[in-house]
Amino acid sequence: MKDKLGKRNTSTAFWGLMYKVAAVAGATHVMFMGLFYELGAHTLAKVNLGSVLLFATSYVCLKKRLNLLAVALILLEVIGHALLAVRAIGWDSGFHYYLLVVVPVLVISKTRIPAFKPIMLVALLLIYLGMDKVMRDLPPYDVLTAQTLSGLRYFNITVTFLLLTYLSGIYLRLVTKAEKELRVLATTDPLTQLLNRRSLMEIAEYEVVRRKRHEGPLAFILADIDHFKSINDQYGHAAGDAVLKAVSQTLRQASREQDSIARWGGEEFLILMPDAAKDMAIKVAERLRQQVQALEVPFNGTVIQVSMTFGVSTHRHDEVVDAPINRADTALYQGKVSGRNQVVAEPD
Ligand code: GH3
Ligand code: MG
Ligand code: MG
Repeated sequence: MKDKLGKRNTSTAFWGLMYKVAAVAGATHVMFMGLFYELGAHTLAKVNLGSVLLFATSYVCLKKRLNLLAVALILLEVIGHALLAVRAIGWDSGFHYYLLVVVPVLVISKTRIPAFKPIMLVALLLIYLGMDKVMRDLPPYDVLTAQTLSGLRYFNITVTFLLLTYLSGIYLRLVTKAEKELRVLATTDPLTQLLNRRSLMEIAEYEVVRRKRHEGPLAFILADIDHFKSINDQYGHAAGDAVLKAVSQTLRQASREQDSIARWGGEEFLILMPDAAKDMAIKVAERLRQQVQALEVPFNGTVIQVSMTFGVSTHRHDEVVDAPINRADTALYQGKVSGRNQVVAEPD
């Protein structure tokens, strides 16, 4: 599931990139068209008109999810344009540099055909080498002045640089975004949006290590909804979920900013409180208990009310992180057997 999601994210990233390529390239070629007409390179101006049409078509194809056709058109445009431009005004115009921009796009492309990338990359290399061999010394159709030609070459080198920077920048941004989304998915409980058990464990272990260097208290509150099973039985699973969400929100809002809250199990929550001594943790737990008790969860026209039992413990020097969590669990159990809806702390 997670793997599929990751693939979908990078795939979306790639097609998002293709949209931008088609749009930016289309707009650039409109500008080129005017420029070449002004410079007297009329053959090239016509080639550019063809380019604009090809990019516009590929943009429409991407919108209609004809992805393969869109990529074929973009490739045709870039390679065709480089070939025609070099043929029209000569090798020294530097239009062949644009072929280099295709390399990263091919490498990051998404395709189900395994041989696609190596074949295309080798083909591209052969086209480049072939152009160099055949076209370097061919006389151009549109003869430009030496100054215009070298100006154009510097321009093309610069644009190639900018395109490569732009493409890799966009791709980096898209991949970073996908990575962030995956990280959120991997560390959050989907129902309550609280941390999941594993990520709270990581934070707890980090805090325990930190305590070895900086003395300071570290408290744990384990909380469990009372008679939760009967809510499911009476109102249905969806009602149980609504209660879980409401309770989670209350816990999050009522606890301190520096605390970490996780959905520890089904209807069980663990709160990690750095720099909180036992008294402070008991006070916070008592506040949470009252707020949960006051909570009214609307569901299908009725209002559901719940209560919670809390077990409080603190970390003792040099013990593993499981130890205080187990003591909080024992305290919670005592709270359950002695009537629920209360805060019980571990003995001193
Ligand atoms: P106690 O007061 O002793 O804690 O009783 P309880 O009924 O809350 O405890 P018990 O452990 O017997 O029941 C927990 C129930 O929580 C059982 C399970 O079906 C339910 N549960 C666990 N995860 C979810 C969930 O994601 N959604 C819903 N709706 N119910 C869940
Ligand atoms: Mg319970
Ligand atoms: Mg439970």
